[in-house]
Amino acid sequence: MSTVESAPVVIPPSPIRTSALMGEVEQALSIKYNNLVYELRAAGHDIITLSLGEAFFDLPELNFGSLTGTGLHHYSHSRGLAELRARLAKYYQDEFAVPVDPDQEILVTAGSKAAIYMVLLAVLDPGDEVIIAEPFWLSYPEQVRLCRGEPVLVPHDVSVFDLARYVTPRTRALVINNPNNPSGRVYTDEELEFVHELAETYGLLVIADEAYNEFVPPTGPPFRACGSFDQEKRHTVTVNSMSKNYGISGWRVGYVIAHRDLIDQVLKINQHLVTCAPTILSCYLAEHFDDILEVTRPQIRRVVALRNEVAGWLADAGIETLPGSASFYLFASLGESTLNSSEFTTRLLRESSVSVVAGIAYGESCDRHIRISVGTESPERVARGIEAIRDLIAATSPR
Ligand code: PMP
Repeated sequence: MSTVESAPVVIPPSPIRTSALMGEVEQALSIKYNNLVYELRAAGHDIITLSLGEAFFDLPELNFGSLTGTGLHHYSHSRGLAELRARLAKYYQDEFAVPVDPDQEILVTAGSKAAIYMVLLAVLDPGDEVIIAEPFWLSYPEQVRLCRGEPVLVPHDVSVFDLARYVTPRTRALVINNPNNPSGRVYTDEELEFVHELAETYGLLVIADEAYNEFVPPTGPPFRACGSFDQEKRHTVTVNSMSKNYGISGWRVGYVIAHRDLIDQVLKINQHLVTCAPTILSCYLAEHFDDILEVTRPQIRRVVALRNEVAGWLADAGIETLPGSASFYLFASLGESTLNSSEFTTRLLRESSVSVVAGIAYGESCDRHIRISVGTESPERVARGIEAIRDLIAATSPR
């Protein structure tokens, strides 16, 4: 045998050297998964898609020609277009009793995802801890890591009233996602009051992500803005988005409301990373704030009603869900299935052409769950998807 034939295969090292930090950060599993769904669909497969993180709405015809604003194709104010800031401040003031100074206490940027990251970057020193309850929106821990902080993850069955156990001298902040993606849980007044007491006692920042605030049914606990418990914004940072409530996730417009001293720091980061949210879209939103909401609100009510109907179908099939009544998500248990959430999700897609997101994406304690989103399919197709989930759980459970 020649030496050439017996030489081991050598994989050349990548010419690209990346930071140790990137080795610690994961891809967003839900986005990775949805990219796969887009590819399957493009290849002609009919996928019942219960994995997308948004609801599709019929929106009014867009007429950019009617906008009265100027400089629409250019950069605009880094805090956000003044007219949009004023409108958002009024929304929080009128609807949720949170006073907001539009000149100093709000910043609009390219999506709330960027807003949360900038807030974390502005408050964390390396090694600072952030408490995040499972099931969590999967970007929180990775964003904390990107800021060289430490996410402290709390299993899903731990009560809010027990969170003090997770506070250490390094704890800097606590994330409250209300209503919660993926469970649809709405925090009660007692829980929110407790969180604020915790924040005062230990000097923590409460980062309240309220991206799904409109998706709350008339029955069940009402939505209460975190900021209404802390009118002076001593420790509350509110993050919200036009993505879900307005059904325009691709516009990339989100915002943060906080004490002016924090907004001033976030402003610096925004200036260096983003400059401003898309100007023409911000102008459109400022001029059509109420008309769009008027159109999406009845559709929001319908999708939330569907969510709660589906909770009933799941219960009838003996499938438990984590407590929740809001949003268009359900976090369903795999019951007796012997599969973990990734195996289940892969088999469901391969064998039944139904896509959901594996629970493991939402925390270690969630590998016995899957996230079902009912925001983008008709009730009939959702029902077919639920049947496939029920059948796969039955087929993979001990008899
Ligand atoms: N927070 C939560 C809880 C979310 O589910 C999402 C999007 N899935 C975001 C923030 C980010 O939304 P956006 O960047 O589109 O505003």
